[in-house]
Amino acid sequence: MLAAGFRISRLSIKMNQNIGHTSDSYAIFWHRRDLRMNDNTGLHHALLSGLKVIPLFIFDTDILSKIDDRGDARVEFIVKQLDQLRQAYQRYGGDLLLKIGKPVRVLDELQEQFNLKAIYTNTDYEPYARQRDQEVADMLKSKGVGFQSFKDQVIFEKDEILKSDGSPYTVFTPYMKKWKEKLLTTGIRRYPTENLMQAIIHARFDPSPSLADLGFYGLNLKFPDPKLDRRIIFNYEKNRDYPALDGTSRLGIHLRFGTLSIRFLVEEAERLSQLWLNELIWREFFMQILYHFPHTVYKAFKPAFDNIRWLNDEHLFEAWRRGQTGYPMVDAGLRELLSTGFMHNRVRMVVASFLCKHLLTDWRIGEAWFASQLLDFEQASNVGNWQWAAGSGCDAAPYFRVFNPSLQAERFDPQEKYIRKWIPELGTSDYPKPVVDHDFARKRAIEAYKKALSV
Ligand code: FAD
Repeated sequence: MLAAGFRISRLSIKMNQNIGHTSDSYAIFWHRRDLRMNDNTGLHHALLSGLKVIPLFIFDTDILSKIDDRGDARVEFIVKQLDQLRQAYQRYGGDLLLKIGKPVRVLDELQEQFNLKAIYTNTDYEPYARQRDQEVADMLKSKGVGFQSFKDQVIFEKDEILKSDGSPYTVFTPYMKKWKEKLLTTGIRRYPTENLMQAIIHARFDPSPSLADLGFYGLNLKFPDPKLDRRIIFNYEKNRDYPALDGTSRLGIHLRFGTLSIRFLVEEAERLSQLWLNELIWREFFMQILYHFPHTVYKAFKPAFDNIRWLNDEHLFEAWRRGQTGYPMVDAGLRELLSTGFMHNRVRMVVASFLCKHLLTDWRIGEAWFASQLLDFEQASNVGNWQWAAGSGCDAAPYFRVFNPSLQAERFDPQEKYIRKWIPELGTSDYPKPVVDHDFARKRAIEAYKKALSV
């Protein structure tokens, strides 16, 4: 059940005689994937515009209505994060306006209500967001209201890192080298907002909608803190491949929702670990791939891979999804995902390869499952990495290299600490036998791939 849109209460209008009907001119700063106030490019520019700024977040019903799981933890994360953001604005005498609806309609109503001069925001590069923003920009243009969108969630966007012939990179290493070279020349510019806060409107808006108002319920998951643990980054190279260790930052969700600034993280990475910096560059690499090749959401990056005759056995997929394949490394990862919304990167590679190759299941099915479960779900990274695992993506491992899940476990979880944490019944009759024999599955996968690629 979705509550009707929020309106500025009468009380707030009384308290703030200026809102909506005086000589002040207003701009909106529209938060989307940047749920923070500090070092925020679009907000920084809005505050310098000379207009009174109304910070806004819209619960986009076009997105919410497509989420089947009403216990989706990401909605809970957003609601919690917005509470904190609201409090941050309130400390400066302002507030965050929260609306529920279709963005183009909500913004149309607001531009009439406030006689807005401009809307500021930060660019979102995903296919849906691009379409939505184009619609919003067209509507605003027809009403004579400006729409300004800034680069904020990446260091280098869509077409800033191109080959010398102007085409996009499709291989990571040369992209990464060019990215680092360019950073040396541009440096990193931060966008502080704390000292500009006198430009926000002084108002109190209606209370925030609860999860129930949005039609969701909470699971009370513990979300990782938006804090960079420098010790982890310093030891990243040594520890990052061992899922039993606290060896990675767990900041994916904060990068996804912009609760931390990428500029801050890249500055720290430059000091602490080039390898970790490379991971942040992988994120941008996949973002520019998705931008230039948006069809890769549905189709193989290398078209021949669309000829693979997937088995797509529902029972095997169910066993995989529930962590019941009889391969401990695979099952531990999928159980970790089910109960925490996180899975270690090494294990993500093993479970994805297992689904595509051992179970000959279409990578799009696995991609959709991860998309529904991962707290750090990022369309570009998820699609890019799934295509990598299936062998169909840019810069993917050759198709005949098939991970052996048992060897991966021996190598990266030698004491079975990770596996036993998630599979307490390991070694008893309650744990299933392998759903498929490794050697048989490996040969079958190679045959299926070879056949598809020779068409
Ligand atoms: P760290 O190791 O601390 O890395 C820091 C950040 O760098 C990450 O938070 C992430 O933003 C970025 N990063 C790291 N590795 C990659 C990578 N291979 N590709 C792109 N960005 C990377 N990452 C997502 O952010 N969202 C996804 O939906 C996603 N789906 C994946 C699906 C599969 C099949 C695989 C194999 C990997 C996927 N990854 C995804 C990449 C990677 O597994 C996660 O980014 C990482 O495990 C998150 O943990 P962390 O925050 O501790 O990462």
